Amino acid sequence: MAASVTLEGVERRFAGAERPAVAKLSLELRAGQTLCLVGPSGCGKSTTLRMIAGLDEPDSGRIRIGDRDMRGVAPQARDVAMVFQGFALYPHMKARDIIAFPLKMRRVPAAEREKAVSEAAELLDIQHLLDRRPDQLSGGERQRVAMGRAIVRRPEVFLFDEPLSNLDAALRAELRVELGRLLRELGATAVYVTHDQVEAMTLGHQIAVMRAGRLEQLGTPREIYEAPASAFVAGFFGSPPMALCPGESIDGRVTLGDLELVAPLQGKLTLGIRSEIVHLGEPSEGEVGFSAAVVTREPLGAETHLELSLGTLGDKPLLIRAKTRGFDAPEVGAKVRAALVPAGLHWFDGDGGKRLAGNA
Ligand code: ATP
Repeated sequence: MAASVTLEGVERRFAGAERPAVAKLSLELRAGQTLCLVGPSGCGKSTTLRMIAGLDEPDSGRIRIGDRDMRGVAPQARDVAMVFQGFALYPHMKARDIIAFPLKMRRVPAAEREKAVSEAAELLDIQHLLDRRPDQLSGGERQRVAMGRAIVRRPEVFLFDEPLSNLDAALRAELRVELGRLLRELGATAVYVTHDQVEAMTLGHQIAVMRAGRLEQLGTPREIYEAPASAFVAGFFGSPPMALCPGESIDGRVTLGDLELVAPLQGKLTLGIRSEIVHLGEPSEGEVGFSAAVVTREPLGAETHLELSLGTLGDKPLLIRAKTRGFDAPEVGAKVRAALVPAGLHWFDGDGGKRLAGNA
């Protein structure tokens, strides 16, 4: 049965470390939901996952799975299954034995094991691979077998640590979709560590964005995208990422090169501009027009991503991003007219980058 996962003030500091790897982390994951932990390398994602698995113990705070306090509970005694990147499969075993292994360890009778293996194989579409050994499987197939090994037990909680990161882009996208379907079909509770924003947006009911051991924001993918709590979160999601420009509001106005905007605050600030509120050409009613120079141009097929320079502020470049359809876009170096929708701007404070105002 899928169970909830609760973390209350969980802290972990490794010996000799300057700051805790995980600091005062509190979050709640409802049964049957997926929580994606995202953030840059070293922000504490894996440490958090390992503490939920019981492979590491918090120095303080509490972890509960369902109603049960996990303090002092050994990993084997927790009803969790973990899948990680480049999972080491037993080289001499056939896929069917690898998948059945956790059940064998629990002395589940052979007939029941076989039934569970064939059910898992069907869910993962690997029935035809069950008699192969790991060295006879591709990377993606191996990762499916590793998932099979996790799902046969129907654990209370699945823990994924970058399970797709060793795969090439196409396979990664394919398995991401399948994994999402699988988690929904199983009604599973899952904690999923990734630094891939697309995996976090598509797989998570909730996303926890971590930074230097701390929780920067917890929210639904929509909340995180539309109302990022900080410039850090804002810059993490979106393709291309949100442009973040330093600025200063004087008498309620901010000037970035040729772009002049009414600011809802005073003083130093960071202005967040997503490419979807920018277009080339003259402004329509309610929009603000400006001139800029094209500094990069990336044609991707369906659309071309452009970086537009508004000039500099001190030594800091003022760059914003825009998209055009197809390949039709001005060349690098071209001077262009562009416009944006001011209601879609995000305003952050100039120091900590905390959200001050925005469109959501
Ligand atoms: P990545 O995306 O690179 O896997 P992460 O967000 O999962 O990173 P963690 O592995 O949780 O980060 O590490 C968090 C911090 O704790 C890092 O500064 C790391 O160096 C430190 N750390 C992790 N494990 C240990 C350990 N066993 N001993 C000492 N320090 C550790």
